[in-house]
Amino acid sequence: ATSTTKRYNITLLPGDGIGPEVISVAKDVLNVAGSHEGIEFRFQEMPVGGAALDLTGVPLPDETLLAAKRSDAVLLGAIGGYKWDSNEKHLKPETGLLQLRAGLEVFANLRPASVLPQLVDSSTLKKEVAEGVDLMVVRELTGGIYFGKPRGFSTNQKGEEIGFNTEVYATFEIDRIARVAFETARKRRGKLCSVDKANVLEASMLWRKRVTTIALEYPDIELSHMYVDNAAMQLIRDPKQFDTIVTNNIFGDILSDEASMITGSIGMLPSASLGESGPGLFEPIHGSAPDIAGQIEVHSVLRAACFLLVDNVNKANPLATVLSAAMLLRYGLGEENAAKRIESAVLDTLTRGFRTGDIYSTGKKLIGCKDMGEEVLKSVDSQR
Ligand code: ATP
Ligand code: MG
Repeated sequence: ATSTTKRYNITLLPGDGIGPEVISVAKDVLNVAGSHEGIEFRFQEMPVGGAALDLTGVPLPDETLLAAKRSDAVLLGAIGGYKWDSNEKHLKPETGLLQLRAGLEVFANLRPASVLPQLVDSSTLKKEVAEGVDLMVVRELTGGIYFGKPRGFSTNQKGEEIGFNTEVYATFEIDRIARVAFETARKRRGKLCSVDKANVLEASMLWRKRVTTIALEYPDIELSHMYVDNAAMQLIRDPKQFDTIVTNNIFGDILSDEASMITGSIGMLPSASLGESGPGLFEPIHGSAPDIAGQIEVHSVLRAACFLLVDNVNKANPLATVLSAAMLLRYGLGEENAAKRIESAVLDTLTRGFRTGDIYSTGKKLIGCKDMGEEVLKSVDSQR
């Protein structure tokens, strides 16, 4: 190592199901891509979710949150599985994920949805519409109707049961997510579309006013506004018109899922969750996929034997996690070159015809999770 070596501490949270398999691949890719850019990683692996429940009785141990907070960035696999599905709410693996997001105070959730030329046939849309789609949804993650008060159940004057929630946004919450979105657009194609319902909702009226005000700090970014109902339609009709989209918690929940279906491949989609300062949280958008998770809890000798019998092992697509590692480099560490290295290696691997089951089509080479990792490493090493 030379004096110019940059060092980062990364917390790895493999979690459950296919989490450990895909994290192991992403870790290798980070190491190799980093070595080409004079970057050295120190990894600390900590339990979260069901794995943490089995080990410590809670889904997010204090030690895990502390390690995450102290690191430069956090890479998470996936959380949850059948085994813990009947647990009480505070003992559910997913509760650990919510606690982790809250603990890291990550209020901005970035979800890119790109239709890669190699996978254009995976899209649910017609080829002409899908080709070239490359957009990013920036969703506010810690405010809005999911957290607003008052909320609850009550009865109305007729004695009927009612349920109610409140959409609340304060200026500071809108301003900070808007700034993340403008910065994101600046790293992309310089276009930002703010999605709201300002014709009906007061919280949206304030949203539009604040986004318009913050735009004065970003004269280089082309800002537009769109009502959410129209945005939902435009995403299907002509998704190529979008570069970066910024929206509130509930609209972002819906629109980011809609956008991901345009690409049609859940095993390919990464995400980033960012806070004001402190480490970001990076994870694939897919879940723990218990239906295809390897038998990682059995002894390795048994596992080798199982491998011959159970064809569910090693089926996970690790590329969503590998691409999350690229987002970690770009948005978490500001290491753009290393991020690009990983992204072009993924594209190169796909161009060379390698596919996991979820993105397989006839004529391509079907391989498993580990082998996909090996191929990506070859692509990283073959770059100039
Ligand atoms: P969540 O944990 O968010 O509730 P879920 O249970 O709804 O997620 P996933 O765990 O994402 O859904 O799995 C949905 C389907 O997609 C499953 O059939 C799963 O096998 C498949 N899948 C998910 N991730 C991958 C992946 N990385 N590679 C291959 N297939 C995947
Ligand atoms: Mg699930």
